[in-house]
Amino acid sequence: MDIQLSDKARIWQHKAREFAEQELIPWEEHAEMNAGELPAKTAARHREIACIELGLSRMDAPASHGGLALSMEEQVATWEQLGRVTNALCWCFPEAQHWMFEACTPGQIDNYVGKLMDGSAHDAYAITEAESGSMETVNSTAVATATGYKLNGEKWFVTSGNLADFFWVQAKTDGGFDSLFLVDKDSAGIEIIDNPLFSHTFAAHHPTYRFNDVLVPLENRVGEADAGMSYTRSWFRHERLMIAARCCGAATRLLEEGTTWAKQRKIDHEMLADKQSIQFMLADSANELWAARLMLYEAARAHDTDTDLKSLHTRCAMTKLYCSEMANRVCDRVLQIFGGRGYMRNNAVERFFRELRVDRIWEGSSEVQRMVIAKSLLKRGLQNM
Ligand SMILES: Cc1cc2nc3c(=O)[nH]c(=O)nc-3n(C[C@H](O)[C@H](O)[C@H](O)COP(=O)(O)OP(=O)(O)OC[C@H]3O[C@@H](n4cnc5c(N)ncnc54)[C@H](O)[C@@H]3O)c2cc1C
Repeated sequence: MDIQLSDKARIWQHKAREFAEQELIPWEEHAEMNAGELPAKTAARHREIACIELGLSRMDAPASHGGLALSMEEQVATWEQLGRVTNALCWCFPEAQHWMFEACTPGQIDNYVGKLMDGSAHDAYAITEAESGSMETVNSTAVATATGYKLNGEKWFVTSGNLADFFWVQAKTDGGFDSLFLVDKDSAGIEIIDNPLFSHTFAAHHPTYRFNDVLVPLENRVGEADAGMSYTRSWFRHERLMIAARCCGAATRLLEEGTTWAKQRKIDHEMLADKQSIQFMLADSANELWAARLMLYEAARAHDTDTDLKSLHTRCAMTKLYCSEMANRVCDRVLQIFGGRGYMRNNAVERFFRELRVDRIWEGSSEVQRMVIAKSLLKRGLQNM
């Protein structure tokens, strides 16, 4: 089920596959049994390979800043292979995204974004609040004073909060603008008010933070006061595409494992793979995976050819919606094929069953993606989506 890829994309696909298979997958069970944590030396080795040897933390950064400036096709080919891994072991590097270099001042690039490129700093994105997950309403406030902005509010589900050195925080400024700020995690007034456990077993936690009169330097506002949401949408487009890529990688591994198992498991002297209902499950999964991958690479190439931004936003929503729902369906079928063994935590299928569920929720739930798609269809028409 090959997809036409450029030679460069194939090289990245191969490098990422090797990293996933040789370095990360062997540690999955250890992570699962140890709250997502790896021995410090192993985690450092993974970071070194990802950030320094492969340069994954700067794959989206512009060449003028020392980045690899990979095309979206190449990045998707990379993340697809990393998606084969459970327990988020592939999140062993931060990522300096292209839009950050357009949005940030030279000082912000030196102090924050640049440090993501070699993994010397880690970031986290804080948008969601208690009252507003699906809606893009922000109640946190950042009031300008002579010495800086005073930030107040609560942010939920801040992924990698425990690993981060700084946050991208969205807050309302005077005049009701949604602004984006770079906030040092060790700033006075930041408190963790909850650090809940989630279905998956990841080293990256998702704490809830309260910001109490946190003083943010004036120069830490990113771009114009009213530009915060447009940067967040850039973040969404990137993340949605990469979530879709990881979902395709996960579904590929699931289907491979399900097929291998069905061909070796005998029930009543007959191979599981010979039973038609099992074949149908495999066939539906292969079919949907093929469709998802075509969609994913088409959206990535649209990114690379400067497709109109609104249309791109819709395509990223469509791709994230389809690929995440596809991966959950494939996982459910493959778990069924494994029977009781599929429900054991030492089986990757069981881990994916818990881990893939959130891909239908974060970075905009499936319902939110449908709202984006419907709005685009009704406003712009099918031809311009
Ligand atoms: C593990 C995890 C990590 C996360 N990481 C981050 C992070 O790093 N940074 C960050 O800012 N946020 C993060 N999030 C938050 C995530 O983006 C939100 O959970 C998500 O946007 C949904 O918001 P909500 O949970 O408040 O659900 P709600 O907004 O309360 O929605 C509940 C349900 O209603 C549905 N719904 C909402 N509106 C409509 C409608 N109009 N029509 C039909 N259905 C609707 C939703 O789809 C959802 O199924 C994370 C969440 C999780 C679970």
